Amino acid sequence: MTTTNGGRPLRVAVIGSGPSGFYAAEALFKDASLKVEVDMIDRLPTPFGLVRGGVAPDHQKIKSVIKVYEKTAADPRLRLFGNVKLGKDITVADLKAHYDAVVYAVGAESDYRMNIPGEDLAGSHAATEFVGWYNSHPDYRDSKFDLSCESVAVVGIGNVAIDVARILAEDPEVLAKTDMAGYAVDALRKSKVKEVIMLGRRGPAQAAFSPAEIEEMGALHSADLVVRADEAELDEESKKDYASADINTKKNVDYLIKAAQKGEGTKGRKVRLRLLVSPVELIGEGGKVAAVRIEKNKLSRDAKGAMRPKGTGQFETLKIGMILRSVGYFGVAIPGVPFDEKKGVIPNDAGRVLAAAGGEKVPGQYVVGWAKRGPSGLIGTNRACSYDTAAKLIEDFKGKPLSDDGLKTAAAAEKLIRSKKSEVVTFTDWKRLDQLELEKGKAAGKIREKFSSVSEAVEALKTARV
Ligand code: NAP
Repeated sequence: MTTTNGGRPLRVAVIGSGPSGFYAAEALFKDASLKVEVDMIDRLPTPFGLVRGGVAPDHQKIKSVIKVYEKTAADPRLRLFGNVKLGKDITVADLKAHYDAVVYAVGAESDYRMNIPGEDLAGSHAATEFVGWYNSHPDYRDSKFDLSCESVAVVGIGNVAIDVARILAEDPEVLAKTDMAGYAVDALRKSKVKEVIMLGRRGPAQAAFSPAEIEEMGALHSADLVVRADEAELDEESKKDYASADINTKKNVDYLIKAAQKGEGTKGRKVRLRLLVSPVELIGEGGKVAAVRIEKNKLSRDAKGAMRPKGTGQFETLKIGMILRSVGYFGVAIPGVPFDEKKGVIPNDAGRVLAAAGGEKVPGQYVVGWAKRGPSGLIGTNRACSYDTAAKLIEDFKGKPLSDDGLKTAAAAEKLIRSKKSEVVTFTDWKRLDQLELEKGKAAGKIREKFSSVSEAVEALKTARV
């Protein structure tokens, strides 16, 4: 038996190479007294999770956070095993055999549904699918979106909703210079969409978007942001809340009131922000979405003081050819890992995994990021979240004896992983792919052209290695 302070290093597997995974590794490395080795395992051959596959291509500045993750990846104590899927290529039992601790940083890969009639008609999609498609995510590159219609509805008014609405309304020539998938730029160039209708179920004081995002929408040169004055006005209760509201809420409210005064504008496309309305039914024609029926809402305070929407019985039907629901992400269960079906997260007590919500702790298992607290917060929010979990992990292991069965070594773990998956992508391999993507982008006059297929990335790597 040895200890983390004197004997063999503490062996940690971090599952997922998005922001929360990298921040977890960073936090473990920051503790100078901890002897630790981290293997990061990702199902994709490319790292950085939602920074690569989620952040909008016209928001390149946000992606510069990758430099921080590259610094962590350059630490010799970290290895990346990309293109390895937990639950398919390797199992939780494999991890238990080769690591002292596992940190799940798997995010929330699915989405909430609206649960309204017609939701499964053709032309009704999750916004996450559209985001993955334009960001070259291998899961979504073959998705098809009918952009031959004039009106598209986006349900929800969070930052993801704003992203997808902006991408639909933006000048494709602006997007063409970014790292957006080439096939998506081509499709958007042919788009006939003139109107994007965003549907918010509550009012301006409850909008989930950030002030910077809505202001950017109002400043597009290709589209006008159109807000109805009657919907921008605060109800009496929200007016009371405004006085003590946070700065972002105040900014949103002030901005929307001003935007409502601008009217229709003169630009070719319109982003119509509707407030206090809920979709209640999707109406189809020939199996495809043709309209959305919406109901006007009124807000009232619930027992906890939050403003909740309630249907008024007043309905309206909007003609649309496509609808993207952007009503929140939801986690996906991994075989062998506890999962809270109701919340879509891995049940945990401040980052320590529990067998079930409110149940016993599962020794040596931890969770960070959206898989821990649900799909909320900006990229930076994950730093504090991962540091908190890492502190619990360190507390559980520091100074404690570690088993010496000979399996918990870097060599044994690598042998196991490579025996189960022939095409493992290391961080050095990723840097090769990175270079290839940048070169391809340069040749096409854009920042980057990403690999959107796992097999293409793997093949390119084989060639690049020789
Ligand atoms: P979100 O911020 O939670 O927004 C979800 C939206 O869906 C809200 O407007 C919500 O309304 C609405 N909604 C939920 N259920 C609904 C229903 N049944 N019918 C109608 N509307 C419904 O989630 P998100 O937009 O997916 O973003 C996830 C996180 O990523 C957020 O923290 C976000 O800030 C972050 N993000 C940031 C950026 C950026 O900084 N640029 C970009 C993308 C994402 P209620 O408020 O009424 O519940």
